[in-house]
Amino acid sequence: MNTSRTARMPVIFFGHGSPMNTLARNQYTEAWRRLGASVPKPKAILAISAHWYTRGTAVTAMAKPQTIHDFGGFPQALFDIQYPAPGDPALAERVRGLLMPLVVHLDQSWGLDHGTWSVLAHAFPDAATPVVQLSMDGTKPARFHYDLGRQLAPLRDEGVLIVGSGNVVHNLTQMRRGEDVAAFDWARRFNEQVRAALASRQHQTLVDFERLGEDARLSVPSPEHFLPLLYIAGLQAEDEAMVFAVDGYEAGSLGMLSVAAGMTAGWVGAGV
Ligand code: ZN
Repeated sequence: MNTSRTARMPVIFFGHGSPMNTLARNQYTEAWRRLGASVPKPKAILAISAHWYTRGTAVTAMAKPQTIHDFGGFPQALFDIQYPAPGDPALAERVRGLLMPLVVHLDQSWGLDHGTWSVLAHAFPDAATPVVQLSMDGTKPARFHYDLGRQLAPLRDEGVLIVGSGNVVHNLTQMRRGEDVAAFDWARRFNEQVRAALASRQHQTLVDFERLGEDARLSVPSPEHFLPLLYIAGLQAEDEAMVFAVDGYEAGSLGMLSVAAGMTAGWVGAGV
């Protein structure tokens, strides 16, 4: 990887929702497309996906990551999706160095999971930019993930676009069936509290999300979809605003908020 100094790259959190968004064209996928088209061309992408939740921390280090179809019960068309972006072993090594003394395993067996490719298929449809994934250690508290995000900040000045992919609100057991179903009140309240914390840079409120009580317990029944947001918050520089790219709900209990920091002045999201 060329580590020469370039313009600081933005950071993006994608609310990915259903894997079916890969095949769809809607307000969310359109916002992801706009985000991808609005950032400087990255040399590489480092993705933190809700769907690589591990014991210990790992980074994909292979030259050709496979497209992983880590789900069941979806149409064949979704299993046919390939996102053939190359890997970047040098970036994996750089990530490992940046996070020392934490031990980061150089992984040769994962690849790109649907948390990553469902959004990158819209944001960077040509799959030409190398992509590396960083796993999240599920044994660690929220603060650990926020701090890890902060430690990755130098990559922003090296042409690396860091993206998180999850959902602020993610409760699969409460999903409502049907078209245009209303979001649950607890989902809206929790999402609004997270938005307020992002807008006012109250990162401690995000790290302490469990203190938001019953709304948090229902919205984040397990932390893996929320935690990628903490990496992106940790990467937000002092002089940057967090902009809301798109917001909404799928199935009543999946929050589709996507946010970014470091976008060019005047960049505005759609209908948020
Ligand atoms: Zn997911």
